[in-house]
Amino acid sequence: MKYFSTRGSPDLLTFSEVVLIGLSKDGGLFIPQTIPTLPSDWKTSWLNHSFTSLALEIFSLYIPDDEIPRKDLERLINKSYSTFRASDITPLKKLRENLYILELFHGPTFAFKDIALQFLGNLFEYLLEKKNLEESLEGKNTTKRERITILGATSGDTGSAAIYGLRNKKDISVFILHPRGKVSPVQEAQMTTVLDKNVHNLAVEGTFDDCQDTVKTLFSDSQFNQKHHLGAINSINWARILAQIVYYFHSYFQFFLSLNVSPSSPEANNIKLQYCVPTGNFGDILAGYYAKCMGLPIETLVVATNSNDILDRFFKTGRYEKKVNDGEDNGKGGHIVHETLSPAMDISVSSNFERLLWYLAYGSIDAKSDKEKVNLAGSTVNKWMEDLKSKHCLTVEGVHLALALRDFKSDKITDQETMETIHRYYAPQDSRTQISYVLDPHTAVGVAAADKQKISSNTHLICLATAHPAKFSAAVEESLKSFSEFKFQEILPTEFVGLLEKEKRCVYIERADPEIVKKTIESELEREVI
Ligand SMILES: *Cc1c(COP(=O)(O)O)cnc(C)c1O
Repeated sequence: MKYFSTRGSPDLLTFSEVVLIGLSKDGGLFIPQTIPTLPSDWKTSWLNHSFTSLALEIFSLYIPDDEIPRKDLERLINKSYSTFRASDITPLKKLRENLYILELFHGPTFAFKDIALQFLGNLFEYLLEKKNLEESLEGKNTTKRERITILGATSGDTGSAAIYGLRNKKDISVFILHPRGKVSPVQEAQMTTVLDKNVHNLAVEGTFDDCQDTVKTLFSDSQFNQKHHLGAINSINWARILAQIVYYFHSYFQFFLSLNVSPSSPEANNIKLQYCVPTGNFGDILAGYYAKCMGLPIETLVVATNSNDILDRFFKTGRYEKKVNDGEDNGKGGHIVHETLSPAMDISVSSNFERLLWYLAYGSIDAKSDKEKVNLAGSTVNKWMEDLKSKHCLTVEGVHLALALRDFKSDKITDQETMETIHRYYAPQDSRTQISYVLDPHTAVGVAAADKQKISSNTHLICLATAHPAKFSAAVEESLKSFSEFKFQEILPTEFVGLLEKEKRCVYIERADPEIVKKTIESELEREVI
């Protein structure tokens, strides 16, 4: 199995290269040469697998054994998920008839990004160690070990999940820029109370976009980049998508086990499953698309957006259109992002969407050879991405759009609906058929979309719960303020108690100036390596 870019460049890369490089030179995203199919007996032989055993089977389909031997892969997986608090890693809970919640927030930072980033951190460490070992066996570079410097900007969740994934990892330093005072107090404390020597938080005076722009400038500074071997952890890294495929399979089996129906029985064929996914950068739901393409019987994937609705508009019209300020008001001709109660989904474009576009292009081509199809798909994606860049809009029509609608539906949820949904599920109308549940605002976007679906009685919805409600306490408390019996303390995880008062380490950056950030990174690195 090799990987190539969505923009058609002919290079074939290994899994390890794709993980370490992140983004292709031509600006495209890496995808596997083919989507692997499942072993013919998977419905029975995988039925009782634990989360980690399933991860091993699924990862092995995408990672050749001569790159990472199976026993090493198994060790990496076990280590990555040993930090989770739930024994089945991603528990499935029934909220009411036909509606289930898949809890993805039992990792160290209480949000779903841990599932991928715990693995990615261990994977980075493993690949670097292997490289250093190979180099010392070849007799070169014996005194100087290869190190990488992970650099990223965050508006909250990605930063803390990356820090917990990379803390105390050998030969890896991590620098996370966040806009000072603009991330929630819990998120800020989760990042800055990690005191490991290799973790560096930079609190930048400015906005998230300023942080992001600074990071981009440093990545394109080839001298600085080469000197420090910069690496990225953003959501386009293939390993993150791969890790997320697992819980679609895991929840499928959990669901059938809970019904006491064998997935390979004729009865199972009459049961339809849809997944409802609160979506921002299209990473979480894209993993579901891969699961479906591999052969997991998912009827539909429901994209749920907040009022940053570029994806919902795409699935309704075929137009993928970025909202931009045409006036001079924000000085950048910049993108418009609405602030909502689900901030981890506040985006102007979805960075992983290009991968789906590739499959839409590829799937609609009537060409003779696969090579021809791959070439044509690359040039179609290129054209679409050029349109997006020059006109802020790309249009997908006819067979392409029909192909998208075969697998996806979408809905857009307002903040008002989000709050009503949190309210409604805390106080179920009929407690015999429905449990009381405190939803976080991101999960509530997915559940609100699920509630709007018109489904038959043999269709079941699984909503992905992407964060613990205590992480976004303001929205939850506001939604539940009319319930005098609701006490926030009761849902507060013990890990959060006293978090805000713990010792912190963070470097203050007076403005988002790449030169200041470069100097800070170098002086911090010097102190760290001593
Ligand atoms: C990142 C995030 C999302 C969105 O996931 P995407 O992969 O970007 O679609 C949703 N909810 C929470 C809590 C997140 O942190």
